[in-house]
Amino acid sequence: MGFIRSRSAVTPLRRGVTAGTTPATGSAATGRRPTVAQAVALHRPEEPMHCIRPAVVSDTARVFVDAFGGAVGGDVLYAVKCNPEPAVLRALWDGGVRHFDVASPGEVRLVRQMFPQAVLHYMHPVKGRQAIRAAYHQYGVRDFVLDSAEELAKILEETDHAADLGLIVRLALPRGNAVYDLSGKFGAAAADAVALLRAVRTVAPKIGVSFHVGSQMLDPAAYERALELAGRVIAEAGVSIDVVDVGGGFPVSYPDVTPPPLDDFMAAIARGVAKLDLPAHARVWCEPGRALVAAGVSLVVQVMKRAGDVLYINDGVYGSLSDAGVPGFRFPARLIRPFEAMTDAPAAGFSFYGPTCDSADRMNGPFLLPADIKVGDWIELGQLGAYGGCLRTAFNGFDQARLIEVADRPLLETPGHEVSVRAA
Ligand SMILES: *Cc1c(COP(=O)(O)O)cnc(C)c1O
Repeated sequence: MGFIRSRSAVTPLRRGVTAGTTPATGSAATGRRPTVAQAVALHRPEEPMHCIRPAVVSDTARVFVDAFGGAVGGDVLYAVKCNPEPAVLRALWDGGVRHFDVASPGEVRLVRQMFPQAVLHYMHPVKGRQAIRAAYHQYGVRDFVLDSAEELAKILEETDHAADLGLIVRLALPRGNAVYDLSGKFGAAAADAVALLRAVRTVAPKIGVSFHVGSQMLDPAAYERALELAGRVIAEAGVSIDVVDVGGGFPVSYPDVTPPPLDDFMAAIARGVAKLDLPAHARVWCEPGRALVAAGVSLVVQVMKRAGDVLYINDGVYGSLSDAGVPGFRFPARLIRPFEAMTDAPAAGFSFYGPTCDSADRMNGPFLLPADIKVGDWIELGQLGAYGGCLRTAFNGFDQARLIEVADRPLLETPGHEVSVRAA
């Protein structure tokens, strides 16, 4: 079974086959994985090296699926856009994820090819006609989100007025306080959502409401507030609801950002759902991306030049570090210097320039590293499993990167996500 890559503008990550390591060709490929330091010593990578921790991804998924199941008995839909790498998807499957939030024809094909038994939910509110037709007729997708009457008409026409649709109305939320606010782009205003709910009730056996509070949402109460709004819309529509989808946005730790524990989010959602007075058969869904995969991938870069407290490295904002650019994310960093004794130099703050010739290819950080860091050293940056590798471009020809599987723990723990992976 071949994979269809969901990106074609950039060279796919090249799988590095490490001595003593089984390349992951299936979920049984657990072999003995090296540590990041061992892999750096072996490969001396001059290109960015993505280090997947499959056991961390699987364990994190299992913790999340269990927590959401325990809180509301609900289904966890992994938001594929966050990291569509097949090895990551396989690790999520191994961790018990069976539902996928897909948003494009490429994501539909990729997930269906990898997992014939997966349940796909097409959660983009503005879809192409051919995309809807292929999703329904070729790939077995039954659930579609919408936020307008035009989209509803399109879905009905392209599925030939199918009688087995799940139609989910996406609600707009007031501007929130997520790091990435997504309130402006998608979602129906409350009055429109009321009309849409009444309309979908007449044509679909399964209907629901969804929303997205924004990514890296640090406030559990945001989910409760959004559920209150959903409750008002449902009550006004006066229709029976089969699905409530609380979206994604669940946060992870970054340096200086420690979110409330996962259970606080689950408790807020459980409180909000309890007030909705849903019919007994109704399901609750969520669509996490970042929370499931951020800790599961790190990136090893090499120092090409040092100028004071600025390091020129071999990946940047046009590669896997776009969140370190204008969004200003800081990532946990550690020095990897396999051929010398470990340094006892104190930590200092550094900013980075990426490899392209664009001066906007700059990452202010500061990233904390030993003060004696020098050209040729490697740096491991953590928490890059979410919105890292998938945002790479081929700009300026810096399109090569390697992918390996490692045994290390994450560089940072997120409260409530703690995984049982043994320290490598
Ligand atoms: C991106 C996205 C998600 C995932 O968001 P995270 O912040 O990564 O959890 C979930 N649902 C929708 C509709 C999205 O667009």
